[in-house]
Amino acid sequence: MDNLIDIKGVTHAYRTKSGPLPVLDDLNISVPEGEFAAVVGPSGCGKSTLTRLIAGLMKPDRGEVWLHGERVTGPRRTVGMAFQNPVLLEWRTILQNVILPLEIVAPGMPRRDREARALHLLEMVGLKGFEHKRPSELSGGMRQRASLCRAIVHKPDVLIMDEPFGALDAFTREDLWQTMRDLRAAEPFTCVLITHDLRESVFLGDQVFVLSGRPARTQAVLDVTLPADRTLDILFEPEAQDMLHYLRDQIRIAQGRDGETH
Ligand code: ADP
Ligand code: MG
Repeated sequence: MDNLIDIKGVTHAYRTKSGPLPVLDDLNISVPEGEFAAVVGPSGCGKSTLTRLIAGLMKPDRGEVWLHGERVTGPRRTVGMAFQNPVLLEWRTILQNVILPLEIVAPGMPRRDREARALHLLEMVGLKGFEHKRPSELSGGMRQRASLCRAIVHKPDVLIMDEPFGALDAFTREDLWQTMRDLRAAEPFTCVLITHDLRESVFLGDQVFVLSGRPARTQAVLDVTLPADRTLDILFEPEAQDMLHYLRDQIRIAQGRDGETH
C-alpha cells in the first residue's frame, strides 16, 4: 500500500541549557493516502514537535520523514496546517484570509477562481454570508472554521492539525468534528490530527496512534473500525465505547500511571 506519510525511526532531542532533552525516540508512523491519523499522548510528550517535523519546519536528529514518496528536507507548500489558535489576519476579511495560501502557491490563478474556490469552502463549513467580515467579528468556532478552509484551500497533500478544537466549548467542538467529516467526504485529504480528546480521535480517525510519555515512541495503534458515514451517536455504541476504554488504558500506561486505582 502507498503511504502518503512515512515517519521512520525518528529520534530527536532539543538542546537546552541543562543538556539535551530527548523528545522523540525511534518513532514510526505511516499514514496511507486519504487516511485520517489521530495522534494522542501525554502532555509534553512531543506531539507538536512531530507536526513540525512532518511540515519540514525542523529536522530530526535521526530517522526520516517521507511525504508522497519524497524525503522531507525543508518546509513544503503541499502541507496545510491548523492550530488551536486560528491565527487569522485581522486586516483581511475572512475571504481574503482563506485566499492567502492560493496567492502564495498559485500566484497565476485568476482572482475570480481563487475567490470561487474559497467561497465554495466557506459555504461548505457554514460561513456563507460571513466572507466580508473581519476575524474579530466572528465567534471562536467560526474563526476555526475559516482557518480550516484556509488550511485546505490550496489542496495540500496533507493537513496537519495541532489540537485545533482544544479551545472551543464541547458543543462547538462536536459541530466542528461533523464539519471535518463533511469536508473530508467532499474532498478527500490525508490528515494528521493531534488531540487530547479521545472521543475526537475515535470520531475523526481511521487510525489512532498513542504516543508514550517523553521521549515519545509509538505505544499503541488502534484501527477505528467504525463506518465511514458515522454520526456523533456512534460514540455511544458499545464498539466505540470499547475503543475509548482501550485508549484510556493506553494513555494511563503512557502517563506512567498503570495500576493506579483512580
Ligand atoms: P506536546 O505537543 O506533546 O505537548 P512538544 O512537542 O510541544 O510536546 O514538546 C515536547 C517537549 O519538548 C516539552 O518538554 C517541551 O517543553 C520541549 N520543547 C518544545 N519545543 C522546544 C524547543 N524549541 N526547545 C527546547 N525544548 C522544547
Ligand atoms: Mg503540543
